[in-house]
Amino acid sequence: MIGILERHSLLNRPYQMPRAPSGHLDPEPKPRCPYCLENFSPEILKTSKESFCPLCRHKVVFTLLSAPVHRFNRRQQWDYLANELGYILEWGRRDLDIYLFSQGEFYNPDYRGAKDRFVERCYAAQAVLRLREEFLEAEGELDHLIEGYLRKEKKVDGGLGAELLKGRTWRDKAKLLSAEEAPPRRITEFQLEMLSDLDCAVFGGLEEQKRAIRYLKARLEELDQS
Ligand SMILES: [Zn+2]
Repeated sequence: MIGILERHSLLNRPYQMPRAPSGHLDPEPKPRCPYCLENFSPEILKTSKESFCPLCRHKVVFTLLSAPVHRFNRRQQWDYLANELGYILEWGRRDLDIYLFSQGEFYNPDYRGAKDRFVERCYAAQAVLRLREEFLEAEGELDHLIEGYLRKEKKVDGGLGAELLKGRTWRDKAKLLSAEEAPPRRITEFQLEMLSDLDCAVFGGLEEQKRAIRYLKARLEELDQS
């Protein structure tokens, strides 16, 4: 069962992002996660290994650190969304792992349906990523173009297009706050709202998600006292 998932999973053949040479990051503005606006520590940026945002768990993509999210050019917007697709697949895979771990595939009637949706999502994401140049040249906002393509061209996408659009709420808020240079308190409130809305599989389970939320609540209290 797991073997089937591994063969189809994009996680084993991740979309390869071009990496900026280390030491050439633009010092202004301070690099931060373009999804949740968390400032990245130097440790995260210096590591040679793949790293993830400590808050929202999106993969750190170096091509997305040279400009604030509201100023992304079209290629950066593509990388932003391609990384989001990988993120959706990653938590889908973890969701299956949680099913298996907690109940076993034979005891959970939802497992087979969830596994089929996951495999469909992997195929749909691969189809989208293969059309990078066409999407870049097409007119219109990339996430709408991708969602429209998935809806029209694919009979099934496992809900990938809908998930991508659902994330648009948070991407738009991040862009707005970034453009406004919002103060720390508003950014923390946004992070709290965003993390509460994410699927707990993003964090590897409900307890981990609760821990992240407690951490942000404590940060808000600290900001109120300072
Ligand atoms: Zn983040």
